[in-house]
Amino acid sequence: MKIKKFSCHRCGAPKVNAYKNPYVVCDYCGEMIDVDYAAGLEVWNHSEEHTNKYLQMKQKFETNSARYAKQKNKEAYRKEQYDYWDFYYTHYPEYLPPSIPKGEKYKLFITAAADMMADSVFSNPSTEKNDQYTKAYGNLEYYQKNGKTLVKYESFIKMMDVYLELQSDGFRIVYDNPKYQIMHEVLPEEFQLKMKLSQIAQVWIPYLDDQHADAFLTKHKLKHEYVEIEEPQRINVVCEDCKKDLSIPTGALRCICEHCRHENILRKTTHCINCGNENTLPDNWSMMMDCVTCGTELRVVQPLFG
Ligand SMILES: [Zn+2]
Ligand SMILES: [Zn+2]
Ligand SMILES: [Zn+2]
Repeated sequence: MKIKKFSCHRCGAPKVNAYKNPYVVCDYCGEMIDVDYAAGLEVWNHSEEHTNKYLQMKQKFETNSARYAKQKNKEAYRKEQYDYWDFYYTHYPEYLPPSIPKGEKYKLFITAAADMMADSVFSNPSTEKNDQYTKAYGNLEYYQKNGKTLVKYESFIKMMDVYLELQSDGFRIVYDNPKYQIMHEVLPEEFQLKMKLSQIAQVWIPYLDDQHADAFLTKHKLKHEYVEIEEPQRINVVCEDCKKDLSIPTGALRCICEHCRHENILRKTTHCINCGNENTLPDNWSMMMDCVTCGTELRVVQPLFG
């Protein structure tokens, strides 16, 4: 079968299951592997009505937030942001990082998102970069090609450079602050950045000519190669929580249910091919481990994809 080429940094397995979410999760060990721009775009645009509803609500949240910012009412601003992020992830559940289960952690994540917005708006960060960004945005040059309006690549790249610097400053507020510890766990910086790049690409790719669109996607590793692999063997299991059927590749350790986000633990040991011992996996297991009985080096997840 032909699949997009992803390789799990934790267990080495390829991505074998079909998926809709832009966050790509390993089917064997449950790690978040990458962000798939194309999948994100597809789910974002799956229905015009759905997208319009989002844009309409976003406008309302933005208007209110701007008013609270002007009134210097941080609490109201924070509350508005909380409601916005809650709406966002309810409207586009596919965009919620799969590392966030239901319940308490979801609330913590939404609270962190709202706090971050409030902190960055009310802490009066240097507006110099904001001004630079506004200027670069205003300096975008457009041209016509085959009846379409396109943006000149050099002017776009200049804007992107400032945009990325701005993001990087914003990330420092979040990832260097112990208050947002949860973010390291559920949405590490590299994934957050890639998601931002993906969303920028969603907006701007239609305004770039094919060659430049390709250059942009390649530069930010938003394009994926395809590979041919042997169809893996599968087993069916029932999700412990929602009781729906899940099709899982043989040898998987962990499966985050695609229906309810429950984390199903499928096995906690690795079988030694040499002596037959079942080795208990340590919490922070890595790709390879030595059999505790005979010392044979074992691959924790299926050696099939070596
Ligand atoms: Zn994995
Ligand atoms: Zn489930
Ligand atoms: Zn052994």
